[in-house]
Amino acid sequence: MSFHTIDRRRVRALRCGLWSVFVLASLLVILVLLDRGADGGWVALALTGALVGLAIGHRWMKDEGGVPVLTYHSISDDGGWLPWRSNVVTPETFDRHMRMLRERGLGVIRTRDLIEARQNGKTLPPRPVVVTLDDGALDNWVAALPILRRWGVPATLFVSLDFIENGNAVRPSLDDVEAGTVSRDALNWRGYLNWAEIEMIRREGLVDIQPHGIDHGRVDIGPREVGELTPANWRKLAWVQWRAIKGPKADWHLWEAPPVAPIGTKLRENAPALAAPAWRDEGGLETTEAFEARLREHLERPARVLGQSDVFCWPENATCDTARRIACEVGYRATTAGDGANRPGEDPRVISRVGVGDRIIGFRWPAIEALALWAAIRVFQGNLYWYFPLLALGLLRKAMRFTPRRLVRR
Ligand SMILES: [Zn+2]
Repeated sequence: MSFHTIDRRRVRALRCGLWSVFVLASLLVILVLLDRGADGGWVALALTGALVGLAIGHRWMKDEGGVPVLTYHSISDDGGWLPWRSNVVTPETFDRHMRMLRERGLGVIRTRDLIEARQNGKTLPPRPVVVTLDDGALDNWVAALPILRRWGVPATLFVSLDFIENGNAVRPSLDDVEAGTVSRDALNWRGYLNWAEIEMIRREGLVDIQPHGIDHGRVDIGPREVGELTPANWRKLAWVQWRAIKGPKADWHLWEAPPVAPIGTKLRENAPALAAPAWRDEGGLETTEAFEARLREHLERPARVLGQSDVFCWPENATCDTARRIACEVGYRATTAGDGANRPGEDPRVISRVGVGDRIIGFRWPAIEALALWAAIRVFQGNLYWYFPLLALGLLRKAMRFTPRRLVRR
């Protein structure tokens, strides 16, 4: 359930690296010339060369036009039920982020608007940005929706069918805390949205519900063994249990021990289920027909059940050409997992996103998180100068690893 954009990162890093080398080299040349008491003409020539180079490099460093699509997961006071800590952002940070989008005058649009703009030329507000939340955690109802409503920020919520809870009563949220009918300590932060909450969200209309597949699963892709389940890793590798349980499994976080595949179960090499053909127990990869039928099932059913097929969000942000083709055939207007910036000239059926966390320096510091989000947005839009503060924050996180734990609240 994490997000990677390695290709785009490499291009950015390369541009920023070349630009930095040029700036440093120019400075060095000028300093050496001055140090040696060189003729003023040479200094002027070096300065002119540096300025021309900077002007050309500036076009590389600042090429606006990207539309950031932000990806959140859990918005929670108590994300401890999820074994993937980087997926949890506190309500305070989320609130600060949404406020920042509004106060800085970004045009927060719906995913649908972005698709309309890219496919049919719809006009967007200046500096557009899209907010999405993956996986359908209960806290999206408890905390995210009240905060989105407070700032009038529309969003898209991606849910996986097997992780929708069965209950039919809506649970208390931050709205109830504000109204004084429930204390914040009494809120339930664990688990997933139920159908009643999804219906309420849908009816309100601020947040769109779109498909994130059925079971958020992985498949083996070869016979090679790559590890085994241990008491320490089986929760993080919950997909091993998920795939053995057909149908709903939203209560998996309550399991005290692995219910199906026990500790010691060997793991084969594996990949997100919609990104590659599966290795069969009897040996050999599934046939192209079987793979396509599996993809079709995982794309079609969520669209049918949710009644939505604007955009499909690939679990783990991973897909393949076959899956993209079938998504088109099934009727999705767009799918995620791009590694671009949603610019003109890119495939308008592919949406690229950027993951948002709230521990960029290794622990939570809301002001720093707001700065990091702003920098990530500016980089996505095409201003690579903002890459340098992000780089500095990343280095700070590395330095923090060597800080004694008791000095830093993690
Ligand atoms: Zn996901």
